Amino acid sequence: MRVLDRLDQLYAIGGGPGANRVGYSPEEDEAHALASGWMEEAGLEIEVDLAGNLFGRSSSAVGIWTGSHLDSVPQGGKFDGALGVVAAIEAVERTGRGTVVVFREEERGCVGSRAFVERGPLPDAFVELHIEQGPRLAGAGAPVGVVTGIVGYARGEVIVEGAAGHAGTTPMDDRDDALVKAARSILRLEEEARAIPDAVATVGRIEAEPGGINVIPGRVRYSVDVRAPDRERLDRLIALAGIDHSHAAAPAEMSPRVIGALREEVEARGLSVVELASGAGHDAGVLAAAGVPSGMLFVRSLNGGVSHSPDELSSDEDVALAVDVLSAVLLRLQADADAAQQHLA
Ligand SMILES: [Zn+2]
Repeated sequence: MRVLDRLDQLYAIGGGPGANRVGYSPEEDEAHALASGWMEEAGLEIEVDLAGNLFGRSSSAVGIWTGSHLDSVPQGGKFDGALGVVAAIEAVERTGRGTVVVFREEERGCVGSRAFVERGPLPDAFVELHIEQGPRLAGAGAPVGVVTGIVGYARGEVIVEGAAGHAGTTPMDDRDDALVKAARSILRLEEEARAIPDAVATVGRIEAEPGGINVIPGRVRYSVDVRAPDRERLDRLIALAGIDHSHAAAPAEMSPRVIGALREEVEARGLSVVELASGAGHDAGVLAAAGVPSGMLFVRSLNGGVSHSPDELSSDEDVALAVDVLSAVLLRLQADADAAQQHLA
């Protein structure tokens, strides 16, 4: 299958181990050059914007867009981003409709898509095919899944004050141990996050002062990362964690129209529809936040859902099915857009 062969070609850039195409590196440039060549072969009109994002248009109309990114984390996997690009080229070539877009540097904060939405013009709709990067579809026995939204997140630091003291001479009852207090808060946060559906909370870094083996900690700082699929749940977590809103990204909801088109095409293939929220950020979230009706189709991850690793894997059959669904959704959304256009005229 051509899609798989192209994934291999992209994966070979940089020589391994794993994918090494960090945003705006010569390796990402090389991947863009390959994709640009495939788009030309498909008869698409090529354009590159000021941020280096690559477009391949089947017509001059703004229309329906599909695509993803070609940058990777260091020693990343074969499918993250690249699958959505090769599938998009395949779907647009197959249907003769729509535009392929390859956004620059997604992995370090969706740099390309953020630059793009500031300038526009924005598409009528955007569909991104992506590997799930988690174990849920495999757990549900589903080859593909329809994304309902992309989680929002907030990050911050919590400081717990106590009183430093001698580890040998201060009786347990007289202590004000900042680290013990912090430990209780972290355990409470863990319990509370478990009670909120699809929410997650992580403490990844902790520091005790003064940091002596024989000194009761007087002050502790720890980091918090909380994520949830909607504003209400995210706000609850932020309040529970005791952090502020300054380092936060709002959750992005996928468009009911695009979700509907994805659902119908999955059902048309005799599969039950599995819906899920994305715990990772994606370019589709940036477009959705900018007002573009957006949707995502996830492809089942194997190997326990591992991602950002050379062990990242999806099966050939699942990839083929996802490309079929994407092509059909592209046609369906384009037909809707054409009808709306006719209605206006
Ligand atoms: Zn990605």
